[in-house]
Amino acid sequence: MSDNFNVEEMFGKNVFTIEKMRVLLPRAVYKEVRKVMAEGGELSRTSADVVAKAMKDWAVEQGATHYTHWFQPLTGITAEKHDAFVTHPDEEGRMLLEFSGKELIKGEPDASSFPSGGLRATFEARGYTAWDITSPAFIKEDATGKILCIPTAFCSYTGEALDKKTPLLRSEEAVSQQALRIVKLFGNTTAKKVTASVGLEQEYFLVDREKYLKREDLIFAGRTLFGAPAPKGQELEDHYFGAIRERIGAYMKDLNVELWKLGVTAKTQHNEVAPAQHELAPIYEDDNVAVDHNQLVMETMKKVAGRHGLTCLLHEKPFAGVNGSGKHDNWSLITDNGVNLLDPGLTPNDNIQFLLVLACLVKAVDEHADLLRQSAADVGNDHRLGANEAPPAIISMFLGDQLQDVVEQLVSTGTAKKSKKSGKLETGVSTLPDLDKDATDRNRTSPFAFTGNKFEFRMVGSNDSVAGPNTVLNAIAAEAFCEAADRLEKAKDFDKEVHDIIKEYLTDHQRIIFNGDGYSQAWVEEAERRGLPNIRSMVEAVDALLTKKNVKMFEKFKIFTKAELASRAEVTYETYSKTINIEALTMIDMSKKQIIPAVMAYSGKLAETLIAVKEAGGDVSVISENLKSVTAKLAEMKEALDKLQKDLEKAGSITDEKKHAFFYKDTIFTDMSALRTPADELEMMVDKKMWPLPTYGDMLFEV
Ligand code: ADP
Ligand code: MG
Repeated sequence: MSDNFNVEEMFGKNVFTIEKMRVLLPRAVYKEVRKVMAEGGELSRTSADVVAKAMKDWAVEQGATHYTHWFQPLTGITAEKHDAFVTHPDEEGRMLLEFSGKELIKGEPDASSFPSGGLRATFEARGYTAWDITSPAFIKEDATGKILCIPTAFCSYTGEALDKKTPLLRSEEAVSQQALRIVKLFGNTTAKKVTASVGLEQEYFLVDREKYLKREDLIFAGRTLFGAPAPKGQELEDHYFGAIRERIGAYMKDLNVELWKLGVTAKTQHNEVAPAQHELAPIYEDDNVAVDHNQLVMETMKKVAGRHGLTCLLHEKPFAGVNGSGKHDNWSLITDNGVNLLDPGLTPNDNIQFLLVLACLVKAVDEHADLLRQSAADVGNDHRLGANEAPPAIISMFLGDQLQDVVEQLVSTGTAKKSKKSGKLETGVSTLPDLDKDATDRNRTSPFAFTGNKFEFRMVGSNDSVAGPNTVLNAIAAEAFCEAADRLEKAKDFDKEVHDIIKEYLTDHQRIIFNGDGYSQAWVEEAERRGLPNIRSMVEAVDALLTKKNVKMFEKFKIFTKAELASRAEVTYETYSKTINIEALTMIDMSKKQIIPAVMAYSGKLAETLIAVKEAGGDVSVISENLKSVTAKLAEMKEALDKLQKDLEKAGSITDEKKHAFFYKDTIFTDMSALRTPADELEMMVDKKMWPLPTYGDMLFEV
């Protein structure tokens, strides 16, 4: 790559952007496309043919040979099946590349091998992919060549959502409709749509690929299942925002270019808290596109790492003892005429529409805290939530000083007469400018924090799709707006009713607001007194999908049917059990084939040394003591290994999905920790030259 590249030219190079459509499509077709994008509905078949041809011609000109319907099954990652544009040759053996409107709009992948949670029996394996016109098509370049990717939703023959995108799109419509009712009541009659806008901060680790390849646990589980801590961790806080090392810098540069070409606005990059941990954040955009782009970010991070002799780890907890990775989900609601419903303005106490929106969200989060918690659950995230580095597993909202004060005034007196001013931050140095202070400070321990003009949902795991969390955010907001709008549209005295609603919601739901230290034990106790749910694990969180209250909400706004929710519950249990099973099997494999043999070899060497030293008349006390402790630990390890193997057999005989998953959490997971402890202790006793695995020090500090 040359050094003088032009970002403006490069941006969106591999995307079939609106601009390209404007240039390449006949005017009438272009207008029809824009209308469907903005208002929904379907493209006519003739227009679809025209769009398909233009898309194909553009892609082929870029060197694409295949197309794929790109979708997001319940695995949480993306799926693609490539079809070449080739067609039957004519009599003279010539072939013309083709792509029809029908192929653009609908695909029919054999869907039998994707998780469906019982929604679709294998014998009726039909699944359909349907073009999502709101997310732009793009070209993916890799060793396979160039592939035109068409973002699609994935449904069963009977229309049930088999993917993560369909419910998200449904939730977008719901929140848009209900939020429009609110802004209309406040006199904004020109807005036609309210969009959930999402900005995602993606954390990741980079490790040296050669070392990665020496660790089965990283290969199979994406995290270390063994490993004693290095002498140094993150205690010096010297990595966070630290200067970026050359090799990592080259990676980041390459990553940015790849993302820009895909139309992803990669903007911020920095080193994170843990050694070898980094972050990338693009600029926020429409949540559907943001979710798609986040999938591309994760995929591209992994792909580009390979080119630099690195491997990108997106697991939530690749290394014990240092921070894990999350994905902050910044969320706000913005009308198509440019009003951010979460912007308080300078004097939030006067901004009644904002206060109503805030009160609705406070109510929504309090009423569905369990669901929001569930939406951030994934296997790796169980290592983070509540473990004093990520937000706690208890959902609460942080509002900051200024809003907190307004809420207190509203709750105690019914009106808020003033807003705390933010003021100036004086540096005391005459050559430095005085800065305007933000009225909201930061609180890094809160899972759901108000940050200026958006909420930041910080619970999401680094490896997870953000479709789920945003579907829930949109859904619970839609419900609260709907209830408020129902009352306000009927109210005789609008001003009084809006005032009553704000006061009522804030008073009834103030328990969810917490501005203190979310990591403290005191908060855990306080939250319990307040009656807030503290759901500690992914499997315990599943119940939230099927409570009466949550099912009712999803059904009311046609986001999930009960059957679709039940399928998500089943897939979640399955995913949990299967993941832990893989981890357990990996530990067994590494123990038997690598760690135990290495420890035995080392003990043998000690024994030989002991005999030799004894014969030579030396002092063998230290050698003998070492030999005793190493072999004792080895016996301990073997015992833990046997127990794990026995319990895995038991797991095989449990047929109920839920019980199965709980057995993995309560028994297998515990057995795994019991096996890790002596192994990690042995790592500290055995000669490094004989230890079969790269250590934490090797992986975290020698990238
Ligand atoms: P932090 O201080 O939390 O690390 P960053 O600047 O790294 O913040 O990331 C903030 C993210 O929030 C970015 O993706 C940014 O585009 C996004 N963001 C900013 N304003 C909004 C908004 N109104 N709605 C949604 N996301 C937003
Ligand atoms: Mg953040």
